[in-house]
Amino acid sequence: MKRRFDLHTHSAASDGTQTPAQLVADCAAMGLWAMALTDHDTVDGVEEARQAGDRLGIIVLSGVELSAAFAGELHILGYGVNRSDAAFCAFLRRQREERELRMPRMIARLRDLGVNIAREDVDRESRGEASGRPHLARALVRLGVCGSEQEAFDRFLARGKPAYVGRSLPSPREAISAIRAADGRAVLAHPGCVGLGERELEALVSDFARRGLWGLEVFYPQHSDAFARAMLGLCRRTGLVPTLGSDCHGPGRGVPPAAGWERFGPMIPQETYDAIDTLAIDRRSN
Ligand code: AMP
Ligand code: FE
Ligand code: FE
Ligand code: ZN
Repeated sequence: MKRRFDLHTHSAASDGTQTPAQLVADCAAMGLWAMALTDHDTVDGVEEARQAGDRLGIIVLSGVELSAAFAGELHILGYGVNRSDAAFCAFLRRQREERELRMPRMIARLRDLGVNIAREDVDRESRGEASGRPHLARALVRLGVCGSEQEAFDRFLARGKPAYVGRSLPSPREAISAIRAADGRAVLAHPGCVGLGERELEALVSDFARRGLWGLEVFYPQHSDAFARAMLGLCRRTGLVPTLGSDCHGPGRGVPPAAGWERFGPMIPQETYDAIDTLAIDRRSN
């Protein structure tokens, strides 16, 4: 029996809806062996998740998800970073500051569009400092402006829509370097969402691998079996570790924890389990 895991989850420390402890409890109740908490631009939820994991007998790895500028943006996951590394903490703080600079600009855009929304409406949805568009989307639903969060993205918040405002992002190389400098392992998240064909992805991922990328999120709910197989081949050629992540953000928001595991489980190589074991052993120091 292969052991179920999920290396890409979000809690209310960023834009997920559950507390880290609730999220870990759900994962444990589903029988997961291991999980990683990968909030956007923060590791603030990791300690609580760790403690819940220790109580419930599930391995909880420390993680974070960074956004980087690339034809729009791509995402880099970082596992096992040294959370007391001053430079990495400063890096994360800068990313969150950029989020806080962007939020009032998106609110101003919405107000220009005739939507009566205030910063407090968003703050009610985001408890942490890593405010994001999903918090704004939830505020728009609560105010009755939109029927669903998806509608909020489709009408206002998605890239190219009228209330979208970008933020200053690091380059992918900078994101990978920041993770590595803090003794973490960098993984390219959901390569199927980068917007490149398989040939172009091969070139990009090979370049990232030379710059210290450690893994590739081969198994992701939105990836087809054929695409996952292609990404697995790319891992073999570049020496990257294939990982699986659901990108769950809480009940009722997209997919549940370990989504994709039923479909991809048989394709996951032993190497991935060994890598998780290694990360779990290393966790004392991070
Ligand atoms: P932000 O970090 O503020 O740029 O918001 C990005 C987050 O918003 C992602 O992690 C998803 O949770 C969500 N998101 C981004 N684009 C969409 C979309 N088109 N539809 C629904 N949710 C989205
Ligand atoms: Fe998110
Ligand atoms: Fe992502
Ligand atoms: Zn994510």
